[in-house]
Amino acid sequence: MLTVVLDPAHGGADFGARGPTGLAESDVVLDFARAARIALEAQRLRVLLTREGNQDPTFDARSTMINGLTNAIFISLHVSSSGPVGTVRTYYYLFPTNVTPAVNPAVGAPPQTATPQTSGAQLTRASLIQWDQAQRSSVDSSRQLAFLVQTVLVQRFKGSPDAPIAAPVRQLRTIKGPAIAIELSSIDVTDAKRLDQMAQPLAEAIGRAVAEFHPLSAAPTTPSGAH
Ligand SMILES: [Zn+2]
Repeated sequence: MLTVVLDPAHGGADFGARGPTGLAESDVVLDFARAARIALEAQRLRVLLTREGNQDPTFDARSTMINGLTNAIFISLHVSSSGPVGTVRTYYYLFPTNVTPAVNPAVGAPPQTATPQTSGAQLTRASLIQWDQAQRSSVDSSRQLAFLVQTVLVQRFKGSPDAPIAAPVRQLRTIKGPAIAIELSSIDVTDAKRLDQMAQPLAEAIGRAVAEFHPLSAAPTTPSGAH
């Protein structure tokens, strides 16, 4: 059975972005995660949240929740500090030292191959490389998942970009398995209802995309020629 690990980002003393009325990103993303859990559990999927309340687990603690599982995906949820209200972006991890080779979608490339070519600054961290760069083994499936999610999201949140964005999102780097971050805009609202209204369509979109995602088999062709 597929497990979906939902990650309401921030928490505890880390509120994330704050709105003009004091609205905290950490609270909004927890509401989003709870709505998404209901939608996913209705599809008979196993769902874990990296935090159930206002705790603040570390990046590594959150990664640990998925890294021991074999058939699981990780979805981190954020709300931006600004930007057009009602739009959504999906991110997958881009390794900064891998900008040029990333053009080549080499599925299953051994993760160690990048180690000898890394610069001096990276070599000092060589002993940490396996955990620290766990996402290297899942770059292609994460990108596939991100395309799927963003394609569904853009239908419900008009004005969102058509494609996901590659970026070095810290939380995703230490995850072994398909991992994406979804960022909704924005916390800069005076009426919290404008964000509340996004929870249900977001949950439905996540449910639909996850249902179409087949990480371990030959995936159906994804839209717009995505790899
Ligand atoms: Zn955030």
